[in-house]
Formats: sequence, structure tokens, C-alpha cells
Amino acid sequence: MSGLPPLTIRAVRAIPLRCPLPPDRRPVSDFGRQDRFDTLLVAVTAEQGLTGFGEAKASVGSMADLESLAAAVEKTLAPLLVGRDAREITGLWELMYAGPRAGYALRTGRPMPMADRRGTRVAALGGIDMALWDLYGQYVGLPVFRLLGGPVRTRVPVYASGGWAGPERIGEELAAYRAFGGFAAFKIRVGVMDGSLGRAVARVAAARDALAPDDELYADAHGTMSVAEAKAFLAATAPYRLGFFEEPTPVDDLEALREVRAVAAVPVAAGESEATRFGFRDLILTGGVDIVQPDPALCGGITETVRIAALAGAHLRVVVPHLWGSAVLFAAGLQLAAALPNVVRLEYPMAGHPAFHDLLETPFVPEQGEVAVPDRPGLGITVREEFVERFRTDGRRGIL
Ligand SMILES: [Mg+2]
Repeated sequence: MSGLPPLTIRAVRAIPLRCPLPPDRRPVSDFGRQDRFDTLLVAVTAEQGLTGFGEAKASVGSMADLESLAAAVEKTLAPLLVGRDAREITGLWELMYAGPRAGYALRTGRPMPMADRRGTRVAALGGIDMALWDLYGQYVGLPVFRLLGGPVRTRVPVYASGGWAGPERIGEELAAYRAFGGFAAFKIRVGVMDGSLGRAVARVAAARDALAPDDELYADAHGTMSVAEAKAFLAATAPYRLGFFEEPTPVDDLEALREVRAVAAVPVAAGESEATRFGFRDLILTGGVDIVQPDPALCGGITETVRIAALAGAHLRVVVPHLWGSAVLFAAGLQLAAALPNVVRLEYPMAGHPAFHDLLETPFVPEQGEVAVPDRPGLGITVREEFVERFRTDGRRGIL
């Protein structure tokens, strides 16, 4: 055993944040007009006084009701953890996943999850897992990427994730992204929000027209097209050289995704709504995905994303995590990219969320389309408590 005393967990807290977006930055998509960004910070505090932060989400999009997720963190999972050693992350993950059968699960090596083995419980578990890694790294004075055997890279390519404007203004929108971060890769939203296939294609054409020849352009349909529509979209956008086509069809139909990929001349990306290595196993084996997109705030945290990346690697798939969240989630993504060879690129949200740009003492600002990995203990971040106090909705004060 190490010479350090146990890192005893004193408290696990859920901190719901609701951050209004400025009136001139409220994009409209199939999720409606986004006038705010909601997310759940998770804070794990140890007896030694250290606090680790993580993030859990109740939606792949910007707006969500966080009540049940907060309850899962504080009422369901926190009682399992208080008094335990925060360094034993793998065992704590199993305890949160299996509940009373965790002992049997660990003894036999077989998973024995509770009924809610996808969704709220796993999102809550993932936020706590992230906070445990942050806490452990702080305790031993090392960045999480070192605890995972990295770095394999110290700067990570990012793509600008946004693109809601119509064909007449989308070029302007992407030019503003480039001016902000020097991006060379851009993603736009398409699909049911366009009202017609023609408009979706026109927006892709206008976006490509506004970019340099070597720039990458991606399209994300948010899982809203039929198989026939996705095939027609791919055929019509062939001249515009998409770098990937994300979530063409509804997330519950893996066979539909396979049908689309079978005819696609561009890579198909998916996975933001999947959870755990078991969900990703099915996604990969069905054969419908080239680029795997786990969201650590939904799929089971850093621990599970490492396993998913290994699974993807065994099938020669690359990983581009879904990071539509606050800067805490992005920080976790950076640590994963720094540690795992096949996490080759990260999503950089361009919705102007205050929780992305203003939550940390040192925000993540891209230069030349890359973000530097912080070489500081844990997730390498300092959460601004004044931001938390301003935007939290739970009526409490302080982290504890
Ligand atoms: Mg997406």
C-alpha cells in the first residue's frame, strides 16, 4: 500500500447551474430556442480539505431539468461513498453501478447493475467519477493524464461546434469561429430543424463555400433523419467533402445507423447518447460507426471513457468525445486526449455558454485550433466560486 493515508470522502454534493445566454446568442435547433445552459457540477470533498470537481448531465443538449440527476448524486450515490477512500476509483465505480451486489460483482468479475444502468444513475456516477479523478490527482500532485500513463500529446486539436444559421449567414457564423480560435475544423447542425432536405444541403454548400479548401466540415443531424433522408443527404452533399456525418438516424436504431454507414463515402460518427462499454460494444459491433463519441458526463465518467476508448481502439475506431458541457467536462476531455492515443480531437462548444467560458480561473481558449493540456494536478482547473454562487439554483451557499 502507498505511504499516503486514505483520502477519506467527507461529502458528495450536486450543484445545479442555470446560466442564461445573452439575447444575441440564442441558437435555434431541433431542441428549440436555447436561451440558457443547464448542467450539474459534482463536488467531492475529502477529510483532508481537498475538493474534486466533475460534471453530470441530464441532456445531450443545453437545457435540462436537473432535479432527478441531483437526487441521484446526493440521495442515491453519495451515501455509498462517504467514509470511503477516494483513491479506490475502480471499486467505487462498481459500487455505484451495482449497489448492494457490488461485492458479488467484484468477486465474480461480472457486472450486476441496478435497473437504471443507463441514463440518470450512470450520468450521476460519471460526474462523481470525474470528481474522484480530480481529487486523487490533487492528492498525489499529478495531472489525471499522468495517472492514466500519459501524456501522448500536450496540445489537442479541437473543432468549433455550432453552425445554426441559414444558408445566407452560415459563412459569417463560421468566420466568427475562426476569428475566435483559429479553428481548421467546423461542425454545423442539420436535420429536422431545416424543414427540408434542400435547405440542409444548401446550408452545407454555403458553409463549405465559406471555408478554406483544407478546412474540415462536419454535419450533425442530432439523430433526426430517416434512413432514406440520410442517404439522400449524403448523396447531395458529396461535393462538399464532409469530414464526418454525425448521428444521422435515431439513436435507438443501431440497424438504421448500419444501413447509412453501408452507403456512406464519409465517416459516420455517433455515441453521445450511449452509456457504458456495453452500449458502445453494441454500437461498434453493429457496424454503424467510424468515429466513437462518448460523453464522459453521460456514459460513466473518465473510468468508463477509458474502457470505451480501448474497445474502440480494438476495432480501429477513433474517439472524438461529445463535450457539450461546461469547462469541467472539457477539462476531463483534455485529460483523456492527453492520455489515450485514439482520442484524436475534441469538441469545442461555440454556443457562448457562460459555464464554458467563465466558470474557471483560467478558461480554455484555443490557439491555431488547438487547446493546451494543463500540466497541473487533477483536472488542472480552479472553479470560480463566485460564478457558482451566481448561477446555482439550489439556494445553498458554499461547496459543502
Ligand atoms: Mg451531436
